[in-house]
Amino acid sequence: MSQKQQLPELLLHHHLKALRLPTVLREYPKVADQCAHDKADYAGFLLRLSELELLERERKGTERRIKAARFPTVKSFEEFDFMATPSLNKKQIFELARCEWIDAKEALIMIGNPGVGKTHLAVALGRTACQRGYSVLFCTAAGLVNTLIEARDEKALLRLQARLARIPLLVVDELGYVPFSRTGAELLFEIFSQRYEAGSIMVTTNLPFEEWPSVLGSERLTGALLDRLTHRVHIVPIEGESYRLAQSRKSRRSERRGQKTEEVAT
Ligand code: ADP
Ligand code: MG
Repeated sequence: MSQKQQLPELLLHHHLKALRLPTVLREYPKVADQCAHDKADYAGFLLRLSELELLERERKGTERRIKAARFPTVKSFEEFDFMATPSLNKKQIFELARCEWIDAKEALIMIGNPGVGKTHLAVALGRTACQRGYSVLFCTAAGLVNTLIEARDEKALLRLQARLARIPLLVVDELGYVPFSRTGAELLFEIFSQRYEAGSIMVTTNLPFEEWPSVLGSERLTGALLDRLTHRVHIVPIEGESYRLAQSRKSRRSERRGQKTEEVAT
């Protein structure tokens, strides 16, 4: 290659780097060949390249948001067996997966016994929100309260509250397993209050509302918290028994059936 030919290429590499277009930089020779082969015009070439850059940016953004959300597991709707939970309103779940409630800064509460798939659905909904461009933070209620207490002790509470307030969707999993101290309950109440009309919150719990005072410690605080939380809320009740329990019972039953057929056959 002559020096004359190299210079534009060197400049192009420099400009594309400076403009932060790594995918264009990586892909343009290949796309140029394809476009020459397909007899695509200059606009077509530019369109293909900009589409590739955009897709890569979206993919990386989703990846970054999913990492930052700190989901405890990788769960998706594809792995969720809706037939196992007939009481669940599948239409409502898919409606929620469109994330319009996050735009509207509404709340979502999932209520059901342990093992019915609340965390699974919360993760699946949270990941979908990340794919759609929303930042998410996933925590357990106990974990959040501990972090709040620590931040308060280190005089960093305001900073933490401001950081949480900027997140469009806060997921608070497992409200109800651990009762909070009075301070803990009050700090949690403050976070819930801040979400009100400022951002969305998703709460999963094994406790019906009337039992919330048992973890929050006071009827008055629970009343005020529910007042804010249930102002604009989607409630997803999940009835039934633990999925894993049902699965293991099913497999034991089929094992027994298998043994009986063997006995008959021998
Ligand atoms: P919960 O949070 O309600 O206690 P989890 O979401 O943790 O329940 O569910 C417990 C386990 O069972 C998880 O591994 C989850 O993926 C699985 N599970 C629960 N419900 C279903 C379902 N309907 N289809 C597939 N897996 C399920
Ligand atoms: Mg759970």
